[in-house]
Amino acid sequence: TPVLTFRDVHARYAPGAPRALNGVDLDIARRGHTAVVGPSGAGKTTLFSLVLRFLEPESGTVALDGVPLDRYALADLRERVVYVEQDTPLVAGTLRQNLLYTHPHVDEEALWAVLRDVRLDERVRALENGLDTPLDGTVISGGERQRIALARALVGEPEILLLDEATAQLDGVTEAAIHDAIVRVASRGAVITIAHRLSTVVEADRIIVMEDGLRRATGTHDELLVTD
Ligand code: ADP
Ligand code: ADP
Repeated sequence: TPVLTFRDVHARYAPGAPRALNGVDLDIARRGHTAVVGPSGAGKTTLFSLVLRFLEPESGTVALDGVPLDRYALADLRERVVYVEQDTPLVAGTLRQNLLYTHPHVDEEALWAVLRDVRLDERVRALENGLDTPLDGTVISGGERQRIALARALVGEPEILLLDEATAQLDGVTEAAIHDAIVRVASRGAVITIAHRLSTVVEADRIIVMEDGLRRATGTHDELLVTD
């Protein structure tokens, strides 16, 4: 059974505002990587907003394990579904505090494992204070920030990882680290990316094409090429 289901979902951000979703039906498999593509304004981010319950559907149902999202406690939902946005803010404090922000009891070994996952382990080892390095005053590139945010998400071993890929040019190490993390999380859970980069679309298990608030097509990269 799918982990997430959208059934005839309509959504708008304010009464009288144009609809952001116009009756979306889709299923997300329990494991694997689904990429969501489509033009600006198509409703891609709105899918995430609904899953995170930043926005409630106007009509229709979004369900996790077949249970409508509004029947879950928000805290439980936040444990199972994690969102890493393009510019996820880091908190003031040390690298360790950032990594432990949502899961304070994770041990040292697990922290180094996620640092390795996002290819930051060598960089952190080279810092004089290691994990206890304050982020303020330390020179951290945009790509490193993004990998720290991703590492923080991986610490909690989310069942569903929502990733809004940066449109900005990423350095090669960051792109490779994000790719590796997607593959790893997708082997035991669901990863949904709003995809801007062709590389992740090609490698996704499934691509959802959104347009005008509707799911226009679903398939693998090759299947969608045939449809075109
Ligand atoms: P249609 O031709 O009606 O658009 P599709 O062939 O795209 O239908 O999809 C067929 C079925 O696959 C639908 O019932 C839909 O709910 C389901 N589906 C859509 N997206 C996904 C997904 N990401 N994972 C699994 N099933 C999906
Ligand atoms: P995409 O992610 O595909 O670019 P969005 O889901 O962000 O599309 O947008 C779908 C529609 O909802 C657009 O018409 C957009 O203007 C509108 N919209 C998105 N976010 C908001 C918001 N926070 N407040 C009001 N309208 C919004």
